[in-house]
Amino acid sequence: MNRAERRRQAKATKKKPVGEEKTSAPRLDIAQIKSQLQQAASPQEVQQFVGQLREHGLPSVGGEELIAYAAQYHEALAALNGDDEAACVALLVNSAHAWADDRIDQSPDRKRRACQAGCAFCCYLPVVLASAAEVVYLADWLRANCSAAELEAVRRRLKARYDQRTASSQSQSPLPCGLLQDNTCMAYEARPFKCRGWNSVRLEACERAYGPDNPIIKTETPTTVPVDPFAFVMGNAVLNGLSDATQHAGLDGGAYELNAALLRALDLPDATLRWRNGERLFDGRCR
Ligand code: SF4
Repeated sequence: MNRAERRRQAKATKKKPVGEEKTSAPRLDIAQIKSQLQQAASPQEVQQFVGQLREHGLPSVGGEELIAYAAQYHEALAALNGDDEAACVALLVNSAHAWADDRIDQSPDRKRRACQAGCAFCCYLPVVLASAAEVVYLADWLRANCSAAELEAVRRRLKARYDQRTASSQSQSPLPCGLLQDNTCMAYEARPFKCRGWNSVRLEACERAYGPDNPIIKTETPTTVPVDPFAFVMGNAVLNGLSDATQHAGLDGGAYELNAALLRALDLPDATLRWRNGERLFDGRCR
């Protein structure tokens, strides 16, 4: 299914008026629902199945989440079955990011978002998660887009984060993500799903929850920052579709700490091919 078809499918299954939704819970658990979506032979089957769940009370956003998941799952499996194994990874992740962005842009709360260029409070989180596919893709993206000096600087920052995380003292403020440069993400177009889907709707909450040491007393934590819920759900739905497809193709579909895993991927010039051949490159120190 290409992107235009996915958009058409999402449009066709748009939200019902609230009054039409029934209140009884769907009878299937999430594993059964995912299994049905994975076995669906066409977008129409996905749509039909989601329609049935809606008849049993699945909320509108839940339906859109399942459709985004299924579309990504089927597209990723098709890409993984392609011939050009190395190029396929770039195609796979690029297309998944574009699909997530498309869904995230449909959020009814997008105008309420507080995020803007130069604001990077949430890039100081102690852990940033990314899938293995995203990590090898990001390493290739950095090699293709950065000078040798920039790459060396990135490595130094990633190593500093890694050393801080593995040090015994837990009391230090988190260092910025290794990809943060001049308060801007240097790999913005290749950033992971988790960063794409995380959009605060209250700047003051970010100031109080994250960031380097500053005079603001931190009265909030990252979990109390209100975010755009639709964008958050859609980012995760597409990520889960990609991760499940990679796992079902016999590849590592796990999630890893971005900085530690990226440091490892940059140390392995053939990380993408090795991941594509089924190696687990990030276990152990990258959790
Ligand atoms: S990848 Fe980019 S957007 Fe995400 S935490 Fe790191 S610097 Fe911030």
